Amino acid sequence: MTKIKCPKCNSINVVEIIYGMPTETNKFSDKDIECGGCCIEPTSSTHKCKSCDYDWQDSESGPRTFFD
Ligand SMILES: [Zn+2]
Repeated sequence: MTKIKCPKCNSINVVEIIYGMPTETNKFSDKDIECGGCCIEPTSSTHKCKSCDYDWQDSESGPRTFFD
């Protein structure tokens, strides 16, 4: 589980957003993730709060894909 907190509501009920085709989900079966779809941009969000639905980018390496 991620230790990242939601910057909006401070919830720890946060999932990571992974981009790309969700065919390799086994790779992430032990994690709570959200599929961000195929369209990825440098400014795409990397995390999403399950409590308030807020999403934001919080990663030094930028958005991740299923193929990283
Ligand atoms: Zn939140």
